Amino acid sequence: MSEPGLYVHIPFCSAICPYCDFAVVTDTTANRRERYTKSLLRELETRQGPAVYDTLYFGGGTPSLLEPDGLGAILSAAQLTSGARVFLEANPEDVDDDAVAGWKELGVDTLTLGIQSFQDKVLDLLGRRHSADASRRALEVAKAASFDTVSIDLIFGWPGQRLSDWQRELEDAVALEPDHVSCYQLTIHAKTMFGRRKREGRLVELDDTMQGELFRESHHVLGAAGYNGYEVSSFARGPEHRSRHNEKYWNHTPYLGVGPSAHAFDGRRSRSWNVRSFFAWEKHLDRDESPVEGREVLGDEDLLLEVLMLRFRTREGVDFETLETRFGVDLLETNRELVSRLSDEGLVEIEGRRLSPTIDGLAVADSLASAFELQLPHDRCQHPSL
Ligand code: SF4
Repeated sequence: MSEPGLYVHIPFCSAICPYCDFAVVTDTTANRRERYTKSLLRELETRQGPAVYDTLYFGGGTPSLLEPDGLGAILSAAQLTSGARVFLEANPEDVDDDAVAGWKELGVDTLTLGIQSFQDKVLDLLGRRHSADASRRALEVAKAASFDTVSIDLIFGWPGQRLSDWQRELEDAVALEPDHVSCYQLTIHAKTMFGRRKREGRLVELDDTMQGELFRESHHVLGAAGYNGYEVSSFARGPEHRSRHNEKYWNHTPYLGVGPSAHAFDGRRSRSWNVRSFFAWEKHLDRDESPVEGREVLGDEDLLLEVLMLRFRTREGVDFETLETRFGVDLLETNRELVSRLSDEGLVEIEGRRLSPTIDGLAVADSLASAFELQLPHDRCQHPSL
């Protein structure tokens, strides 16, 4: 098993996008940012334990709103291996030559740009604060700074989107040659502004058939352009550009998340999460209390289901040999009929003891996992890694 990863949640945003369900605050004053950094350092001090981390991911929120001094203080306090990879998310409106020079100096290896779209009308619909020109400019500036990997996030599945809209978006992305692309399907959460508009009948969500078409188009267009779709949403121009941090989530490698709403996993079966509210999180740390709000310990069956779900989200898929060592059950043997049906339907490919989802299979990754009959012997889970 590889070293654990460290996730730092930076909750600042200049405004709240109408579809956003993350833990964010719009108070980005210097005083608020200073207090955040102080609390974050306190949390790191109390929660890192003896672990050393080989990835550090600054996610948000908008990490590019925290000034380099704050990011640098967090980096210095983090217990990192030599050669640890550092990831930073940035919004296009924060990207200029000075900003990227500062991030380079801090040791950021992968810069992820929240581009979302190269079309002004889509950026307006999504309530983003940058323009299509700013998307392009940010990507050019980031590429010129020679980060190891420049990644972009795109959103598909917005109300009214046509296949041709998404094809154009993907073609624009390919033409600008980022090293990595993440394509996220828009989800409408009940408590967001989009959720309210949907309830009031003012917003019609795209149907599943169209969502599926758009999803497959991402894999076809980016695949044809040389991007390997190694996970449901993730495409890399070469193995060196795959997200080493996110792979920890899919491999059940331990990780520690710090900051409001951040999650942690011990690599075995225990998960915990911090309070979501920035102010509650800060208050706990001010009082020298733990900001952890909840914990769950997964039973064998839930753990196995989760492993299947995570692995079916990756093109590598599930290795039944390792699953048998870990859980003491030969799922391939006990699910022969299912596996052959899924294969006939073109949803999976089987090679030896490994079952990998096709692109159509990736589109229904969660339902692939839940179709399996699990039937575990009691208390059989033995190994923490895949
Ligand atoms: S920029 Fe990202 S985190 Fe901030 S409000 Fe928008 S979607 Fe949420």
